[in-house]
This record gives sequence, C-alpha cells and structure tokens, in this order.
Amino acid sequence: MLKIAWSESFCYPLPEGHRFPMEKYQLIPEQLLYEGTIKLENLFQPEEIRVENILTAHSPEYWDKLENGKLTPKEIRKIGFPYTPMLIKREREIMQGTIECALHALRYGVSINVAGGTHHAYRNSGEGFCLMNDFAIAACYLLKMKLARKIMIIDLDVHQGNGTASIFRNIPEVFTFSMHCSANYPLVKEPSDLDVALPPGTDDKVFLKTLYDTLPSIIEDFQPDFVCYLSGVDILHTDKLGKFGCTLLGAKARDEYVLNYCYKNQLPIAIAMGGGYSHRIKDIIEAHCNTFRLAQHIWF
Ligand SMILES: [Zn+2]
Repeated sequence: MLKIAWSESFCYPLPEGHRFPMEKYQLIPEQLLYEGTIKLENLFQPEEIRVENILTAHSPEYWDKLENGKLTPKEIRKIGFPYTPMLIKREREIMQGTIECALHALRYGVSINVAGGTHHAYRNSGEGFCLMNDFAIAACYLLKMKLARKIMIIDLDVHQGNGTASIFRNIPEVFTFSMHCSANYPLVKEPSDLDVALPPGTDDKVFLKTLYDTLPSIIEDFQPDFVCYLSGVDILHTDKLGKFGCTLLGAKARDEYVLNYCYKNQLPIAIAMGGGYSHRIKDIIEAHCNTFRLAQHIWF
C-alpha cells in the first residue's frame, strides 16, 4: 500500500500576502483523492517527532532556539516563515512524517511525504523555508536503528541541497547527490558527494540526459540500500524561483526514471516534495501529483 504522510497542520495558514504556496499541502491530497489515485486509508497522520530524533541531525543549541522562540529576527528572516509555536508543531510532524515514510518504504518499497524535502536546513540553522532537515533526520534514524547501512539522497529540486550536503559532509554512510541550477539560491553552495550544476534555461532534454548519464553509475558505485528522493517541482519553466525550462512532461519523466530505477533494483525509496512555486497553483499540484500517480502505478 502507498503510505502517504499528511496532516492538517501541514497547511498552516501564513499571513496574507506571504509568497509561499502553503495551499499545495491541502490541494495535493484533495486532488489525489478526488481522481481516485488514493483513498483515505493511504494517508497517515504523523505525530510530532521526538526530540532525541531531532538531535541526531541538529544541535541542541539550535533546537533550543526553535523550541523556545529564541531565534533572532535575522535568523527568522533567513528561514522565511514567521515564527510561531504552531509552525514548530507543523515542522515536527513533517519530520516524523519522513521518518515514518522511511519505515513504510522498507516495508512496501515506496512511501511519500506530502511535505518535507527541507534540504536548506543545516545542523545549526534554518533557511529558505526550511527549519529542520527531514531527510537528514530520517537518514540518521535509519542508520541509528540499523535499518539501513548506506543511504543515497537524490536531490533533484532546482535549488542545491546545501543543508543536507553540510550535515553529511563527513558521514560516509550517506551519499548526497544534488542536481540543480548553477545560478540560483543558495548563493554559496556546499559540496555534496556529487553536485551537478546545470545552467539557467536547462530544458527537458538536457536535464533528463544528464540524469540518465549520472544516476545509474553513482548507485552502482555507492551501492546504497536505501534512497531518499527530493522531487521538487521548481524545475518547471513556469516556476517563479527556478530558472530551468522543464515541462510537466519532463518533470514526470524525471520521477518515472528515478522511481522505476529504484523499483527494478529493489531499492526502498522515501520521497518528499521539496519546492514548487509556479505562478499557477494548478501547475504545482499537477507536477507533484504525478509523483504519487507514478508511485502508485509502479509499485501497487
Ligand atoms: Zn527548491
């Protein structure tokens, strides 16, 4: 069964005029339920993550700031969300959602978090709409519980996975792969185990060819037994923050390739959504929903 992490708190309302499309977290499951791709039983609501599991990837000092509202105005600005205790609750549910997706992936092959993919969060700080790093937390959890030995994080969001790269810089059990736009946020990129930076305007053809040329060889070399996949849809040409020229079909082909590869090689895969900031919410929802449709189609 395709288990999907979702909670009403994912759709936490932001102040009027905020540019982050929070409504996508409501509309993705609504669309999938409406069209019959999933049923209510596919959704599970994560609890708030336990603090000990936060501290595998984040420092106690940073968690103290988050929990007790001690972030400075500058730190809050860098994160990009207004600070409220509700937002911390939301984030804790998202983190637990990705841990549980990892466990479901071990059982069913694949599992998806409607939110998450918060790859800009560092051990000691947050930025770019990311407070805590869900794949970092989930990967540390799997390693700690000895449920995986070698984990590959495949990050195909248009932005570089700087926080993830930094957290795992000296951890050989986790391979970080980021394919992103060279001239985009974050300004200072952290070295991943493999970074592939593509120029602005990159279209489906170049994007997909690069992926096809890269992914099989790094998986064969590293031999992971678990995959985390960040399927950001800000690679679309319609995206306000991305600078790529990919189409909906291209984004779908990207997901299909990664998912099929993991399915054929019996690699459990946990997926989180990451970015998506197209002008029309319809494009964001359609691109994200394709990831779920493919997972359902390939595995179940
Ligand atoms: Zn992004």
